[in-house]
Amino acid sequence: MKKADNNSVMLSENIDGFWGIYKNATLSPFGRWDPFRTIKTDSGNKIGHHTFFSAIRGKRPHEFSSFDTTVHTRKESPSIDTFCELSNGNLPSIIMSKDLKLWQKPLSTYFSKENLIDTKAYTSINLYTPMARIIKELNQKGQEDFNILSGIPLVHILTKHYNTIEEVPTEEFIIYLKNIILTVNECMKSFCNPNYTNCKVLHFYNIGQRAGASIPHLHSQTLIHGNHKGFGWKAYGFLKTYQWNKVFSQDEHYCLACLYSQNLLKDLHGQDLKIKERILWEDDYWLIVVVYAPEADGEIRIIPKRHVASLYELNDSEIDSLAAALIFSNTIQTKFIKKWGKEYFLHLDRNILFRQLPWQTNNDFHFFIDIVPIQQIGGAERSDDHKISQVTPEEITAKMRSFIN
Ligand SMILES: [Zn+2]
Ligand SMILES: [Zn+2]
Repeated sequence: MKKADNNSVMLSENIDGFWGIYKNATLSPFGRWDPFRTIKTDSGNKIGHHTFFSAIRGKRPHEFSSFDTTVHTRKESPSIDTFCELSNGNLPSIIMSKDLKLWQKPLSTYFSKENLIDTKAYTSINLYTPMARIIKELNQKGQEDFNILSGIPLVHILTKHYNTIEEVPTEEFIIYLKNIILTVNECMKSFCNPNYTNCKVLHFYNIGQRAGASIPHLHSQTLIHGNHKGFGWKAYGFLKTYQWNKVFSQDEHYCLACLYSQNLLKDLHGQDLKIKERILWEDDYWLIVVVYAPEADGEIRIIPKRHVASLYELNDSEIDSLAAALIFSNTIQTKFIKKWGKEYFLHLDRNILFRQLPWQTNNDFHFFIDIVPIQQIGGAERSDDHKISQVTPEEITAKMRSFIN
């Protein structure tokens, strides 16, 4: 068992950046835009590629037992890790919420050891965050200085130790999702402008070491950028596609994802979308498909049928169903990779990416979720938004369907 042993360091006032608390602006994390692929819009926002620099990220614990080089398998991880210790009240933390109750304020600096074992899920401030939450010298949040990465970094934790989503009971996962929604809504309210237009919210899971996780205990993260001044090309591409399709159809109410999720779209840009051949699961609220032109083979997309721009707008029925949908999708993807992963250079590790735009003033964006397994890729994939596959998503769907009872 490897245990986080930096208690004394965490409690020291002299180490900067834990929980996003910095003494002064010069020590804060900063960002750079690649000049070779960044443009500035008329409104002063940037669109391009952004890199963060944050020294404290190097202090994260590395708790996977060893790096597993075998394709399509995963090493057992320790059953007691930093998040187990946090849940047991053995490590200090700044707790934002417990189950369906808000706890501390988003800009709180109060840390304590709290026994959380009676909860199902909780959200804490990320100890090793890549963003500045509070800059003491400025006595403010640093939102005005756009070179400082200012925001709220959240870690959403299931109290019990699970390695993967497919192990989590549905009831527990529903509380987990509700805890995330409650907490992020509260943080956005206190940190962003009233329309959230200065807010960029990244929500994602890193499951497994190859997917970027440093702690095996299942968790997801939210990065709320409070001084958002632009888009990466990828997020901008999704938004622009929605907007462009609206213009192209000459219908201001047109939404690609609304039609797609209701299976009303047959072809687009001269392509037969073969949606029926790729459906894995469907109910009144969600459609789950294998992605038509995937970033990794076996990528699964979950699309809400209602036109919502983010996770934070879902109602209770949609959340209940989403919990089941995420467990189902991960189970199927895991079974597929266990049987076929070796053939396609796929690993069980995966990222789950929430494609969303939590701007209350934007009606163009339709939220969706991508479950992307880690796959060995090459220069073609890294050169551009481009992918070479040896198998069609329709064939993969047929294989995945064989695992559905
Ligand atoms: Zn654990
Ligand atoms: Zn829509």
